[in-house]
Amino acid sequence: ISSEELTKAVLDRIDKVEEDIKAFLTVDKERALEISKKVDKEGDFSSPLAGIPVAIKDNICTKDLKTTCASKILANFVPPYDATVCEKLKSEKAVIIGKTNMDEFAMGSSTENSGFFATRNPWDVDRVPGGSSGGSAAAVAADECIFALGSDTGGSIRQPASYCGVVGLKPTYGRVSRYGLVAYASSLDQIGPITKDVTDCAMVLNAIAGWDERDSTSVNLPVPDFTKSLVEDVKGMKMGLPKEYLGEGIEPEVREAVLSAARVFENLGACVEEISLPHTEYALWAYYIIAPAEASSNLARYDGIRYGVRAKDYDDLIDLYKKTRSEGFGREVKRRIMLGTYALSSGYYDAYYLKAQKVRTLVKADFDRAFEKYDVIIAPTAPTPAFRIGEKTGDPLKMYMSDVCTIPVNMAGLPAISIPCGFSGGLPVGLQIIGKPFDEATVIRAAYTFE
Ligand code: GLN
Repeated sequence: ISSEELTKAVLDRIDKVEEDIKAFLTVDKERALEISKKVDKEGDFSSPLAGIPVAIKDNICTKDLKTTCASKILANFVPPYDATVCEKLKSEKAVIIGKTNMDEFAMGSSTENSGFFATRNPWDVDRVPGGSSGGSAAAVAADECIFALGSDTGGSIRQPASYCGVVGLKPTYGRVSRYGLVAYASSLDQIGPITKDVTDCAMVLNAIAGWDERDSTSVNLPVPDFTKSLVEDVKGMKMGLPKEYLGEGIEPEVREAVLSAARVFENLGACVEEISLPHTEYALWAYYIIAPAEASSNLARYDGIRYGVRAKDYDDLIDLYKKTRSEGFGREVKRRIMLGTYALSSGYYDAYYLKAQKVRTLVKADFDRAFEKYDVIIAPTAPTPAFRIGEKTGDPLKMYMSDVCTIPVNMAGLPAISIPCGFSGGLPVGLQIIGKPFDEATVIRAAYTFE
């Protein structure tokens, strides 16, 4: 099948289901078809991604294609450049078909915080797809694209992948360039693939990974060929199963699915042992200091002058800032800016931000200790399957809890994948496999063997 046929099939599918799913903020139909034709004509399919339709989360800059972060404040923003990951996908001749919905500035766990509309879960349209990369995960699950990119600051690739029954990988911090990713919390953000299976995940990671001089936090390490990890072999692999991820708050059916995944690994020759990561319970609360603190600083640039939308009527410069930001940002974004500004303000910095950084170090030390003995750590991706639309919008703390299993991994900068491992009440459940820094290869091997 040609790229044009595949791209048409995906665009037809979008026409058919998008009214129910609402995964996309922008569909770039004409240009996608044009590019697919060009790829066919050139006839160079040496890259596995050549001619393949991809959807990009709307906080990743795409040249000449609107990039809004699902925020009213960027409703008219068209980047003059591509994020490094988009440049790389283009050089592999992938076909960008559009931009996916998300929680505004990636702040949320359900895609209900989008400044435009909520996305629905293809498994049950009364439920959320997860977030904040909910549009990307829903688009992959509903066959509206072949693969997608998301970003993960506290779980935003893995949690929606788990809710939508697809595969999502957060690479090690520094593995993939953040150049052109609109910053939420810069010390935690990473871009990664959302795919239909582990094989696609390895191929996409191959394409996007690597050092980039334009991102000073990207790491100059050789990138292995991750498709070499697509082997069914976990014999002798040592896996830790942290008890803190299976206790209170984890739905029994989710726990059961993860425990039966552990038994599958044992039957395949892995050695699974219970371990303890004692500081797990503090990670979430420290995250909700650190992430908003960084966000409050990163979002200072939306002043109505430099980017995006500007308020219409204003008296003077200060009034322009005030009106632009009051009109442009949604509730959750304002909440985070206020939390972050408070945590960083003089007199409170030591009690909140500094303390949270210390907790972060302890969370990381837990993992370091575990990885002296174990090759990977397995855990649920999220405590429950997809919840109902509206169920948690009234209670931010409840919403925050849905990332309790993913956030520690960002705090420690580790790679982790979510793969489907069963069902709870007919809805998909994700298994999270966490690896050592820059050891995505082992994570992919374990995931591939399980799949
Ligand atoms: N839900 C978390 C938050 O709101 C994580 C979001 C993310 O990973 N981008 O901060």
